[in-house]
Amino acid sequence: MSSQWIFLNGQFVRKEEAVVSVYDHGFLYGDGVFEGIRSYDGNIFRLDQHLTRLYESAQSILLHIPYTKEELEQIIVSTIRHNQLDNAYIRVVISRGAGNLGLDPASCSEPRVVVIAEALALFPKELYERGLRLGSVSTRRNRPDVLSPQVKSLNYLNNILVKLEANQAGVDEALMLNDQGYVTEGSADNIFIVKNGTIYTPPVYLGALEGVTRNAIIDLANEHGYEVKQEPFTRHDVYVADEVFLTGTAAEVIAAVEVDQRKIGDGKPGSVTNELLGLFRKLVTTDGVQCYPDTKKQDAV
Ligand code: PMP
Repeated sequence: MSSQWIFLNGQFVRKEEAVVSVYDHGFLYGDGVFEGIRSYDGNIFRLDQHLTRLYESAQSILLHIPYTKEELEQIIVSTIRHNQLDNAYIRVVISRGAGNLGLDPASCSEPRVVVIAEALALFPKELYERGLRLGSVSTRRNRPDVLSPQVKSLNYLNNILVKLEANQAGVDEALMLNDQGYVTEGSADNIFIVKNGTIYTPPVYLGALEGVTRNAIIDLANEHGYEVKQEPFTRHDVYVADEVFLTGTAAEVIAAVEVDQRKIGDGKPGSVTNELLGLFRKLVTTDGVQCYPDTKKQDAV
């Protein structure tokens, strides 16, 4: 038996016993929403913003989360404490619940709530030192007027198709365009470029998720004297940028040093990227919710 505890439908169960119905519409149709969150030294970074995004995603698809935001926050903190974690990746999933085989959510009586917290598998240090190779892919980002990228739904097929293309092309990550050909984001991360000291990132209305890390980086950059412009740009602008970097809960801030085989800058992570990564890593241990405010981790179960 593993020692990992999962919060499932109101209680903590062991990992092996954490199973959901094959009639769950999350499984049958991708009908549900989720969040990926991270804790650093017991501090859940910007939990409030992640929960706001989760509740907004649920509101958008008319899915009722059977807990208040405060209750769910406590459940997440308890999951971390139950597993005695400090650096963790947290996955919150709200599915429509079990229904019949028809896609109508009306047959689903009860949404399911799952919280998983695991010790974090950090990206290797070399990746931050070397930087990523990006490749633009033919699959376009979901149009916001069809399925908004702001809905962090269980249906991630758009992003999965993009990741498959990147794998086939032998690059580390995909660069996704929208239906007009403007740059949007990676498969699970936001993109920034730096040109002549100014930082650019696509406005979310073009078809990017409004990343929590993205917003933190915009704030940090502004606070440290950089101008950040949220305006549309094309692949050409990426190819001729001085620096390119991606942001996300898992990736944090990571340079892309090659895009469609064009070397970016001198082919190494740039100084602005490195500065922002340093600032970000300072921020993440303080800005959020503390899991162990007054107890030692060992005493917290
Ligand atoms: N875009 C997509 C499509 C994502 O899935 C993610 C990961 N949540 C991001 C961007 C980055 O968002 P965040 O910084 O909130 O993790």
